Amino acid sequence: MLRSFAALVALVATAPLSAQLPTPELKKQVEAMRPALDATYLQLHRAPELSRQEVKTSAFVADELKKLGYTVTAHIGRYEDGSPALGLVGVLKNGAGPTILIRTDMDALPVTESTGLPYASKVHATNPQGQDVGVMHACGHDTHMSVFLGVAKILAGNRGAWHGTVEMLAQPAEEVIAGAKAMMADRLYDRVPRPAVVLDMHDTNNYATGTIATAPGPLLASSTSVYVTFHGIGAHGSTPANGKDPIVMGAEFVVLAQAIVSRQIPAQNPAVLTVGTFHAGTKNNIIPDDATLGLTLRAYDEPTRKTLVDGVTRTANAVAAAYNVAADKMPTITIPEQTVPTVNDASLAAKLRETAVATLGADKVETATPIMGSEDVPFLTDNGSIPLGMFWLGVADPAALAESHRTGKPLPNIHSPLFAPVYEPALTTGVETMSAFAMRLLQ
Ligand SMILES: [Zn+2]
Ligand SMILES: [Zn+2]
Repeated sequence: MLRSFAALVALVATAPLSAQLPTPELKKQVEAMRPALDATYLQLHRAPELSRQEVKTSAFVADELKKLGYTVTAHIGRYEDGSPALGLVGVLKNGAGPTILIRTDMDALPVTESTGLPYASKVHATNPQGQDVGVMHACGHDTHMSVFLGVAKILAGNRGAWHGTVEMLAQPAEEVIAGAKAMMADRLYDRVPRPAVVLDMHDTNNYATGTIATAPGPLLASSTSVYVTFHGIGAHGSTPANGKDPIVMGAEFVVLAQAIVSRQIPAQNPAVLTVGTFHAGTKNNIIPDDATLGLTLRAYDEPTRKTLVDGVTRTANAVAAAYNVAADKMPTITIPEQTVPTVNDASLAAKLRETAVATLGADKVETATPIMGSEDVPFLTDNGSIPLGMFWLGVADPAALAESHRTGKPLPNIHSPLFAPVYEPALTTGVETMSAFAMRLLQ
């Protein structure tokens, strides 16, 4: 029987993947998708939107999922101030079986791109303070969305190779640690089925393009923002004894607080305490009434985080007491923002590694070193009750990375205006790894 070439091509393109994944068929399908993946990436890279402003991006992601046959629920999410968020979930049901959730984030950063790339972002927008700012996908959430849509396509096109339910979740406002919380606050798992696992990935210049990295346990830290305000008594700069100087108290606190990490936390438990802002005063010869310090605290577990917070509180109060500050003028300490650590489920991490080694080859799979950055994906795990499986997607130029290891000079990483992911083969690597991992969990 004769078949036209076009019919043969169509047959190959829709041939189901075998249940034993990965297969050469998966690689073939992803490779054929490369031009479309690259086009999606470049389109998204040129059109970044700030956190909470992801109007066009979320509409694009929702449309693409609908075209692939997913049932999309859009406009999921409510921020703490009551305003609506632009989260969405595309659901694909394919018989009885487990439910898995695959997550991407959608927002970009107030960074003016200076990579000089031909497809560099030229977008400007107004930030919440009303200022005009450059906007850039400097955290690579464009990479995440491109991979995410590629995975959605592979899963939709190979329904013979898996069974269960896939939920493709796109969240807004990751950079301000608000989007995942907003979706949970809007009863996410009443509106779509509660998944058995949450899967995620993030790009990074710490690993070469074409590789991934994972590990069991913490991948990212908890982050706690703290403000400490010392209340002194203002005076003329020439008569400090007539007042109580909050700048001296603040300076004392900055130095003393470093000993919380070095002297009060066991050396095996990593922790960071950084004072990033210190605001006080208006004029050289005036002792101000107040001094406010902004801190970020990082840790991989709750006891360590608690030691940091308690230590900051004790140290601030002790410094004020040493300067004879009255009991009703002790420092004001507030915690406006806090995330939990991102912890990879050990059994999922093991399956992920196995799948990645079989799909990409052992030389393309690294063991991830935890970092002190933070993420809001753990909020989607419903207080840690749903296991998380996550990997880093390498996007660094291999030669530049080797040179950086040799010289000790770091590459521009995420959030830098110079961050320029080598998006191929990263995109195909991401789609292959996440698709194979998802299908393995959907057997
Ligand atoms: Zn980021
Ligand atoms: Zn990010």
